[in-house]
Amino acid sequence: MADLHRLLTKQLVRATRPDRSVDLDMLCQMVSLSYQEEERDRKRIDRANLLMAEEIDAAHRHLERLIETLQVQNTRFEAALENMSQGLCMFDKDRRMVVCNRRYLDMFKLQGVDLVGQSLAEVTRHGCCALSAGAEGDCLASEAYLTLALSPTRGMLQHDCPDGRVFIIAHEPLPDGGFVHTFDDITAWRAANAKMARMASHDALTDLPNRLLLRERLDFALTHRASGHSCALLCLDLDRFKAVNDSLGHPAGDALLQQVTQRLRQLVRGTDTVARLGGDEFAILLDNLSPSTKVEELAERLVSAIEQPFDLDGQTANIGVSIGIAIAPRDGNDSLALIKAADLALYDAKAAGRGCFSFFDAGMDTAAQGRRRLEIDLRRALKEDEFQLYYQPLMNVGAQNVSGFEALLRWNCPRRGMVQPDVFIPMAEELGLIVPMGDWVLRRACLDAMQWPGELMLAVNVSAKQFLQGGALIESVQAALRVSGLPAERLELEITETVLMDNTHATIDTLYRLRELGVHIVMDDFGIGYSSLAYLRSFPFDKVKIDKSFVQEIEHKSDAMAIVRAVSGLCSSLGIASTAEGVETSEQLRLVTAEDCTEVQGYLFSRPIPGADIPRLLERLALPLPVTPALPQPLTPLPNSAHIERRSTRRVAAKPSECAPDVQPQPLQQPH
Ligand code: C2E
Ligand code: MG
Ligand code: MG
Repeated sequence: MADLHRLLTKQLVRATRPDRSVDLDMLCQMVSLSYQEEERDRKRIDRANLLMAEEIDAAHRHLERLIETLQVQNTRFEAALENMSQGLCMFDKDRRMVVCNRRYLDMFKLQGVDLVGQSLAEVTRHGCCALSAGAEGDCLASEAYLTLALSPTRGMLQHDCPDGRVFIIAHEPLPDGGFVHTFDDITAWRAANAKMARMASHDALTDLPNRLLLRERLDFALTHRASGHSCALLCLDLDRFKAVNDSLGHPAGDALLQQVTQRLRQLVRGTDTVARLGGDEFAILLDNLSPSTKVEELAERLVSAIEQPFDLDGQTANIGVSIGIAIAPRDGNDSLALIKAADLALYDAKAAGRGCFSFFDAGMDTAAQGRRRLEIDLRRALKEDEFQLYYQPLMNVGAQNVSGFEALLRWNCPRRGMVQPDVFIPMAEELGLIVPMGDWVLRRACLDAMQWPGELMLAVNVSAKQFLQGGALIESVQAALRVSGLPAERLELEITETVLMDNTHATIDTLYRLRELGVHIVMDDFGIGYSSLAYLRSFPFDKVKIDKSFVQEIEHKSDAMAIVRAVSGLCSSLGIASTAEGVETSEQLRLVTAEDCTEVQGYLFSRPIPGADIPRLLERLALPLPVTPALPQPLTPLPNSAHIERRSTRRVAAKPSECAPDVQPQPLQQPH
């Protein structure tokens, strides 16, 4: 049989069995079946092919979508990579560069260099100038960087480049054995941080360490002091700085502080700390002093250096410095104790007249506690209304009568008894309490004065601290006059030279504004300050009160007499009234009267007395005056007025206590 299809062959064999004749029908049937079978197979194959083609098509479409997505992702990734603020590079497991971004190339100045495929060693050789540990141009990557790059675990490194830049390098190992490095340039951040740290520990104007840093250095010095060595802390406060600041302006004040800084620095060792604590306060820490060091010699040099005039853009400023000194371990062995001790010593130096230095001693602590108690009592006194006004008469020499009264503040303290103003006024000034106290004095005194007969003057003392609040003082005076109804012309405000020393321009302005109200301005305690004559010229005072220290020595000291004469003479020529304060004896009275003082005040006539005793005192002083032998004509007593004795050599013996409730005015002296 010819080479037939095996299925046909099989059918023919079945249809042509030897035992049977050829059954054609059957053969045809079987062939037809074969065709049918074959057709089914073909159809199945066609369907399968169709399905396969569809699947391939779908897979193709999916692949295309995948490629598209990957392309988008790639673009995004590239955009992200190129726009990263960090530099980035990736190495494969063989330490060959796979990718790096533009920032990386910029950071290492490698623009245009094709790094992909290069080994870590080659790459670092290109970028080594920044990554090297040595000087710029040394092309060896730092050991620390290479160690990081070879590490199997993630890590970080802060790298200080020789060109001044600082990088944070992060190392991230990858699962395939490669790694990624990111580079953060923190140069600007670190500089800003360093600046902030400096600002937190240094004074902006002088660039000196501030209080915080001084404390730190003091703590360090105290704990690391060599045995047998000591540390010294000097607290400095500039004298009269405020006057310069106020009169020449703040830029001049700033320049002055900078010049002071230079002078202080020049006088100490490089290892010592000069600090500015704020305002016009400085401190010097002298570290590890050997027993032979003489701190007082440095203190003396500091005082005299600051006393030298300062040139502020052509203007001369004269200031001084007060210094408090504490030594460790003698005066304290921790920073707080030492600062407190130096502060107390500074307080002492200031109280001693400024322009000097004081070493701390234990007594200062006790004194400070006393001051603290006084402060507590004083604050309470203001709330509890424990203040009282006493009045001392002012005697007019020409008219021979009481011209007015000076209001003098007293503190009736339940614990201390009657306290004199010399004790509490400086503290009240220090605490700022003098402002509400002064306000109270003005109101009370003006109300009291309205009860007095006639047109008697009222003198009220005003503190320099009240002048610092210029506008508030004027308002306080206006309110006191308004509420009491006292005519402004009857009010005299007594100020001392310190008022003018503290704040020249503003003070003179306030004085003129007060004068415009109609009140009189009196210079009190004249002669004990600094450049008295200059102050007299700075404002046209209505009256000058010659300080009692001159009057009390007038009998025995020729210089006291010369000063009284000079001042009263000056006042006469300037047309200003003059009052001799503290007249206690008839002889003093005779001498000041002979020198043409227009007014006198003193125990000879009366001590300060409570306001309620004024009518009795006026009656008492209205007694006719005895005739004094030295005068050619007897004095005519004035009706209803006090008369003063013109000549007497007897002194007042005992001084009655002004605190006695029924105080008696001092009787006028009997002539010899
Ligand atoms: P001051 O204004 O110079 O007052 C005169 C002081 O001399 C008063 O002392 C007075 O008692 C005292 N005195 C008067 N005559 C004589 C005398 O013959 N001999 C002696 N040894 N002293 C005499 P006081 O009352 O103790 O006041 C002292 C200072 O306290 C006052 O000196 C004044 O600067 C201040 N002061 C008093 N009251 C006030 C006030 O209300 N406000 C302010 N800011 N200061 C006041
Ligand atoms: Mg006075
Ligand atoms: Mg006085």
